[in-house]
Amino acid sequence: MVIGIIGAGASGMAAALAASENPNVNVILMDRQNRVGRKLQATGNGRCNLSNMNASRGGYHGEQPDFVLPAIGAMNPDATLKWFRDLGLYTVVEPSGKVYPYSDQANSVVDVLRLNLNRPNITLKLGFEAEKIQKNECGFSVIGSDETVSCDKLIIACGGLAGSKLGGTMSGYKLLGKLGHKATRLRPSLVQIKTGWGGIAGLKGVRANCHVQIMRDSELFSESTGELQLTEQGISGPVVFEISRDVCYGGGEWTAKLDFLPDWSRDNLYEALLQRRNSNLPMEDLLTGILHNRLGRVLCKTAGIKGKTYAKELSNAEAEEVCRAVKSLEIALTEPLGMDSAQVTAGGVLTEQFDAATMESRLVPGLYACGEVLDIDGDCGGYNLQWAWSSGCLAGYNAGKDAK
Ligand SMILES: Cc1cc2nc3c(=O)[nH]c(=O)nc-3n(C[C@H](O)[C@H](O)[C@H](O)COP(=O)(O)OP(=O)(O)OC[C@H]3O[C@@H](n4cnc5c(N)ncnc54)[C@H](O)[C@@H]3O)c2cc1C
Repeated sequence: MVIGIIGAGASGMAAALAASENPNVNVILMDRQNRVGRKLQATGNGRCNLSNMNASRGGYHGEQPDFVLPAIGAMNPDATLKWFRDLGLYTVVEPSGKVYPYSDQANSVVDVLRLNLNRPNITLKLGFEAEKIQKNECGFSVIGSDETVSCDKLIIACGGLAGSKLGGTMSGYKLLGKLGHKATRLRPSLVQIKTGWGGIAGLKGVRANCHVQIMRDSELFSESTGELQLTEQGISGPVVFEISRDVCYGGGEWTAKLDFLPDWSRDNLYEALLQRRNSNLPMEDLLTGILHNRLGRVLCKTAGIKGKTYAKELSNAEAEEVCRAVKSLEIALTEPLGMDSAQVTAGGVLTEQFDAATMESRLVPGLYACGEVLDIDGDCGGYNLQWAWSSGCLAGYNAGKDAK
């Protein structure tokens, strides 16, 4: 039996390895790029956060988030680490549950997978872009620009649109669409959000522990505490990533209320500021030693402190304004950055049209899909790659299991 797989990214390579475990299967693994795992190589800032030990307890989104359960149940994070160990990759689990390769290099993950693809029953076709799929009586024809690949079963592992510079494309949605599958609206997720706050310009690269409340039309939409990263255009980091799939959609006025000292009460800060009147601190350094220097200066400016040279001139009303800027700075959110900058696509091909237990299409027998092309996106921290491994292995195993 020949199994064609379109996409040699995370889920496609997992599917190829799982399908090829049956010696009666021949896998043809196709990718439009000239090497396997192009996006994988860039994950986790080059470190590849390949799983999260908490992934079996949730952390997935989409119209049917429970669609992930059979795949993650069949290959949970523990089983994934064992799978990688058997392939030759050693891993480290951080206290947060995030899993990285022991080498701390995404390259190692790609290399281990690539070397394991070197099996007699796997053929790699790189630089092959699937442009069209024809369903025949006994299988599929995958048509490229100057070659056609025939196979008995076909797995679509084309990934999503996110990270377009690394290979993110509409291709998988289009190929599945031509075969009758529908997709939800696609939007960028795990991405920074732009703000209209003028102070942001001087804060590029600043990181702060922050309590972030996201408000829609002044109503609390979500809140969390963690690392906030300030960029040239807006806010980023895990606390922002978590909510980026929903922010600025569906109308309304979106704002973020930032508390840069979540462990301090307003009264503690007020007292600390008044004590600084006894020092020789220049006014612009009023928050130095408490917050990141640049952030402190911008917040003093935002609080409207002007024309005073030393902290000893600080009035009670001004201390109050500084407390407000530090503990409840309200900034307007305009829009998330686009698909180029996003780590994952929220939305995708409707999961109700696939069998979660096998990943086979309910519309086209012998057709499977796995990974990001489906309407599943995970939280930040290794959830998306865990989904790619689990769904890829499940699709590959089921496509190949009956080959005799
Ligand atoms: C910058 C960045 C960092 C990330 N970091 C992390 C992280 O640390 N942890 C985590 O869990 N997730 C991370 N992600 C998300 C994760 O990389 C993806 O969710 C995951 O790679 C999806 O796997 P996939 O197999 O579905 O798609 P991909 O890995 O994108 O693979 C799809 C493959 O299909 C190929 N393809 C597409 N269309 C065709 C076609 N028509 N013909 C032939 N080939 C085709 C593409 O070239 C590509 O190689 C990150 C994403 C980005 C962009």
